[in-house]
Amino acid sequence: MSHLYVHTPFCLSKCAYCALRSSAIAQSAIPADFPDLIVREFTLRSASLPPFRPSTIYFGGGTPAMLGVDGLERLARALAAVGVVPVPNCEWTVEFNPSPSLFSPELLERLLAVGVNRASIGVQSLDDSVLARVGRIHNAAEAEKAVAVAKAAGFGSVGIDLIAGLPGDDDAKWRATLDRAIALGVQHISVYALTVEEGTPLAAAVAANSVRLPGDDAMLARLAAAEEALAKAGFHRYEISNYALPGHECRHNLACWRGEDYLGLGPGASSRTGLMRRTNSQDWRKWREAVLASRLPPADDEDTLTSADDAEERFVFGLRMEEGVSPAGFATRFPSAAQHVARWEKALAALAAVGIVSEISAGRWALTGRGREVADSAIERLLQ
Ligand code: SF4
Repeated sequence: MSHLYVHTPFCLSKCAYCALRSSAIAQSAIPADFPDLIVREFTLRSASLPPFRPSTIYFGGGTPAMLGVDGLERLARALAAVGVVPVPNCEWTVEFNPSPSLFSPELLERLLAVGVNRASIGVQSLDDSVLARVGRIHNAAEAEKAVAVAKAAGFGSVGIDLIAGLPGDDDAKWRATLDRAIALGVQHISVYALTVEEGTPLAAAVAANSVRLPGDDAMLARLAAAEEALAKAGFHRYEISNYALPGHECRHNLACWRGEDYLGLGPGASSRTGLMRRTNSQDWRKWREAVLASRLPPADDEDTLTSADDAEERFVFGLRMEEGVSPAGFATRFPSAAQHVARWEKALAALAAVGIVSEISAGRWALTGRGREVADSAIERLLQ
C-alpha cells in the first residue's frame, strides 16, 4: 500500500450541486481533536500494515482548510511522527477553496514547509454570476488570485477544477471561463460535466423547473470546446475529465484508477486493499466516537470483490484513461481476467467498427473522441 487519502468532511456551506461527503458547519464547531483523531485512525489501522511509505498523499474534502492553518500543519506533522514517511519525490496534494476566508499565503507556506507540493483549487467557473447561482463562496477574481498566490508561494504543480453546464452558464461564458483558466498558467485542469445529484438543492430546482440546464448536445459542445481549447494550450486529456501538461498528471488519481491500493482516513474516506473495499461512515460524529474509543470507525460500505469483479473494475477505469487497456496484458497481470479476454476483445472490435474505440498499439485499445462522449454507454456495452 503506497497511497494515502485524508478526508476532511466539512465545508463552510454546501454548493447547490454538491453530493460529496461533506457537511456545512462553522469552523468553530469542528472538534479541535479532528486532526489528532485522523492520526489515531492511522495507528489503529497500522497495526496490520507494514511501515507506511506513501508515494502519493492527497488531502481532500470537503475543505481541508476548514481545519485551520494550525490544524492542517499539526495533522501533517503528527502523521510523520507516527511513521507516515513519504518517499522522496512523493506527490502531496491538498485541495483548496479559493475563498479568502479559507485560503492565505501563510497556509500555503506552512504546508509547503511540511512537504505539500501540489495544490488543487476548486474554481468551477470564472463567471461571477454563475458562481453566485450555485452558492460558491468565492468570486472569479478571488479564484484567480488564489492561483497566483499558490504559484508565487512555490507550488510547482497547481490544478484547478471547472464544471461545464452550471446553471446560468452559456456558451460564451464557458468559452470565457476556459480562456481565463488557460491564462492562469496552471499545469492541471479537471473539467467535469455537471450532474444533477439526487437530494441536492440543484435537483430540487430542476424538479421545480426553476433552472434550465443545457441538453445533451449543448453539454457535449461545451466539453468539446474545452478539449479543443486545452489541447491548443498544450494540455492532454489523460482521463475523460482530466487534462494536464506533460508530467503534471495527478499521480494519486492515476494510482487509484490503475487499481493500486490506497488507505483512506477520515469520515467517508474509502480504502482499497487487494480485493477489499471499505468506506468509513460518512457520519463524522459516529466516526469520531469510534476513534476516540480506539475502535475502527464503522463502515458505510465494506465488500470483498471476487477476483473477476476486480479485473472488470480495473478494465473499466483503464478504459477511461488515455493509456487505454490491453485485455491480453490484463490477463497476464491478473490471471482472473483471462476468462474475460475473449469477450472484451469481441466487444472492443464491435465498438471499433462504429468508431467508439481504436487500437492505439498492438492489442491496446482506448476511447476515441466520439467514444469519450458516450463513454458510459460504451463501457456498459463492454460489460454485457
Ligand atoms: S466546497 Fe466542494 S465539497 Fe464543499 S459543498 Fe462545495 S463542491 Fe461540495
